[in-house]
Amino acid sequence: MSPRTRTPSLLVRNAQVVTMDPERRVLRSGWLAVEEDRIVGLGPGDDCPYDRAERVIDASGMALLPGFVNAHTHAIHILLRGGLSDDRALYDWLFNVVLPGLRTYRREDVEVAARLFCLEALRSGITTFVDNVEFPTERWDMAADTAIGVYRDAGLRVMFARMFYDHTPDDFLPVLAAIEAKEPEVRHDPGGIEPAAEALAAIERLLRRHHGAGDGRIQVWPSPGVARFCTREGLLGARDLARRFGTMLTLHLAESPLDRRQGGLSSVQYLGSIGFLGPDVLAGHCVQIDANDIRTLRAFDVKVANNPVSNLLLASGIAPIAEMQAAGITVGLGTDDGNCNGSVNIVADMKFAALAQKGRYRDAAAITAEKVLEMATIDGARAVGLADEIGSLEVGKKADLVLLQLRRANLVPCHSVASVLVYQADGTEVDTVVVDGRVLLEGRRPPEMGPGEEAELLARAQAASERIAGEARLAGYPDRPWWSIRGV
Ligand SMILES: [Zn+2]
Repeated sequence: MSPRTRTPSLLVRNAQVVTMDPERRVLRSGWLAVEEDRIVGLGPGDDCPYDRAERVIDASGMALLPGFVNAHTHAIHILLRGGLSDDRALYDWLFNVVLPGLRTYRREDVEVAARLFCLEALRSGITTFVDNVEFPTERWDMAADTAIGVYRDAGLRVMFARMFYDHTPDDFLPVLAAIEAKEPEVRHDPGGIEPAAEALAAIERLLRRHHGAGDGRIQVWPSPGVARFCTREGLLGARDLARRFGTMLTLHLAESPLDRRQGGLSSVQYLGSIGFLGPDVLAGHCVQIDANDIRTLRAFDVKVANNPVSNLLLASGIAPIAEMQAAGITVGLGTDDGNCNGSVNIVADMKFAALAQKGRYRDAAAITAEKVLEMATIDGARAVGLADEIGSLEVGKKADLVLLQLRRANLVPCHSVASVLVYQADGTEVDTVVVDGRVLLEGRRPPEMGPGEEAELLARAQAASERIAGEARLAGYPDRPWWSIRGV
């Protein structure tokens, strides 16, 4: 390569470069150059045409990867963790913790939650996430403007998926009554259902206001929240909006036995029958599906977000990811909520993704470390419709990068970087994160955030969570009994 006349804005040298490109090249010691927001060159160490750059990072002892894609989460729920939501199945957790909690959120809670989430996400190398957002209807615009403002400032790439529910199935009413009766003290959310026309109009306003913001890093997606809790009109209206604005759309699909079926069919078959499914649909979860459903998802090229930790924590089950991948379905990896996962740590979750599949099939070769790393990078990029822009280190793609320290006791010896990142890393190896060519984390710190500022954020998050838990009268707050000896 001949020397360039332009000086790169960023040059990373001496890194083990895990490209995730079509050949899955791994360069033992390589370099990567960035001009503004794009990768303009990369190669082996002795082939670097640049002798200077506006900024040079010596990445000796580090792995350089494309930034991780978190294909399914709910960022602002993070204030509801810390022991407020343990030991509950999906709908118990949703109706007795999440919705009552969200109902009490104020603007400053949304802001502090979004900032806390972004900080933790960056520290596990997440550069892109799909934020499935639900909020009390009358204060939706406040929540959206506040959260999106934080994401723009933080510099991450975010698909802001605006959820809605426009239907409660008759047979769910007694189930809901029993769930809420379990926690009579909690201030339950009486609302939640929005007529489809109102929800779709609100999403259209949001699309017009924020889609493409932050130099294109912010997208707005329609999200009929859970397939079974949406009418055909709501589902198809969301699909139409996505088509008109050229976005993808997402929803929760077949997560638990309670949302496995609708309209006398499996939820997947129902969505196929009404013309909802397509390559622009990202379906979260798909735990409760069968071989016929897998064929249908493949036939429509639907993308799937696997959330192994949340599916285990909420006892929803283990999705048949290995079968989906064998069928040719694109599957990304999601952390899901901070409070139905525990953390926002996609590096840690890669190990769960691998182990869950091995355990489900009682087949140690059900999934490889390499495939799991693809789920967190290039397959995740495909799942969110951005495979041409992110997900691998290739010239012309966006400069979304993560550097991980390899000289760590837990990562030695190392014979395969994919294997050590999936089975040995815990996420604290993440050192530097770059999005759109901008350094958002270095030495595990956001450059513009002082230690005092972080301490203040953590204190605000703790205080906000205490107020929310108190106001919603969540079970186990303020004095959670030692639950292992309940009843003794
Ligand atoms: Zn979710």
